[in-house]
Amino acid sequence: MNCFQYKDGVLRAEGVRLDALAEKVGTPFYCYSTATLERHYKVFAAAVPAGSLVAYAVKANDNLAVLKTLAKLGAGADVVSGGELAKALAAGVPAGRIVFSGVGKTKDEMRAGLEAGIHQFNVESEPELAALDEVARAMGKRAAVSLRINPDVDAKTHAKINTGTAETKFGIPFGHARAAYALAAQMPGIAIAGVDVHIGSQITELAPFETAFTRIGELIATLRGDGHTITRLDLGGGLGVPYEHNNTPPPDPAAYGAMVTRVTRDFGCTLSFEPGRLIAANAGVLVSRVIYVKRGDARTFLILDAGMNDLVRPAMYDAFHEIVAVAEPAPGSPRPKYDVVGPVCETSDLFAADRALPELKSGDLVAILSAGAYGAVMAGDYNARPRVPEVLVAGEQWGIVRPRESYADLIAKDRIPDWLAG
Ligand SMILES: *Cc1c(COP(=O)(O)O)cnc(C)c1O
Repeated sequence: MNCFQYKDGVLRAEGVRLDALAEKVGTPFYCYSTATLERHYKVFAAAVPAGSLVAYAVKANDNLAVLKTLAKLGAGADVVSGGELAKALAAGVPAGRIVFSGVGKTKDEMRAGLEAGIHQFNVESEPELAALDEVARAMGKRAAVSLRINPDVDAKTHAKINTGTAETKFGIPFGHARAAYALAAQMPGIAIAGVDVHIGSQITELAPFETAFTRIGELIATLRGDGHTITRLDLGGGLGVPYEHNNTPPPDPAAYGAMVTRVTRDFGCTLSFEPGRLIAANAGVLVSRVIYVKRGDARTFLILDAGMNDLVRPAMYDAFHEIVAVAEPAPGSPRPKYDVVGPVCETSDLFAADRALPELKSGDLVAILSAGAYGAVMAGDYNARPRVPEVLVAGEQWGIVRPRESYADLIAKDRIPDWLAG
């Protein structure tokens, strides 16, 4: 469900015309829908057992206005860096609802988390455990910890976002779990709280989740047998979203929640979740203008003003994004095929190959859909292309929640050393 629909011949974000917005803010720009963000959060929170912590994975979309929208609904935050921690706190997420994940937390980041009084650290290796113990002891604190255990389950998703198989950089291998908990139990700066599992992203079947969660349930019993107190279980994120409208959609949050409820019923743990993509992906679009239509012998290239530096998912993960014209095409109008590309000097700057779209000409607007997660957050300024603005819509209202960078902003990022000055 999303709130990007045609009305009176124009694609709108809730009550706001995207063509009018393009005139006001210029192109390209990201546009997010408050109603869609809210709905996705509420549907997920209602689907999982009552009393669970839903910690939105900030890395999916870390715009402060997006975070604030979710914080107002009671969302927690799953952060993977000191920067994300600072943004979550600045957006009003209570520290007690923040979970700190990530394989390479530095001691400074650990200190910041302990200082803030976050809910828990999800620790991904033995060396990280030792570092956290040291930092916590030096501060006279005990860090609440869940160890991220790798259940050795293939999430059946793209290799670049598959994280739960035996040998990845993420988590502690299942076979090392008991030893890692025994180690943690010896550390005065560590308070064992629970177990954490996250097997990957854009997962479109329930079976890998169920296999992983069942395996983790068995581990919880073993760990309790070893004398550890396990009261929390963090089930991570990873539930996929529909990117292609004519594909079978992934399981909905209700089916996921029902499975989780059934599988974890007897675990005796308070649950937490870290959904990112599910909340944000279909709550955002990237609006772009056609610069040129270049006709070759075999292919026609639609050259957009947005490029891979603005939205890298197609180049990085071969991701599919639905692309639509902002002006609603007449029913039955022709749909020629285009290679939709950006202006960046890379062959991989390709949003879609051989894609049937309405007839488009220079100056027309298109919207690249499902761009609310892993879109703006992954953007860069390669080819000295200033970062594009982000706009948040709520009903008839809209606001620029991140302004467009200027050339002056770009230039101001660099410094000239003394010997080149003058
Ligand atoms: C990326 C990530 C998430 C969010 O994944 P989604 O697929 O966006 O739901 C949650 N937890 C951890 C540890 C992650 O790395």
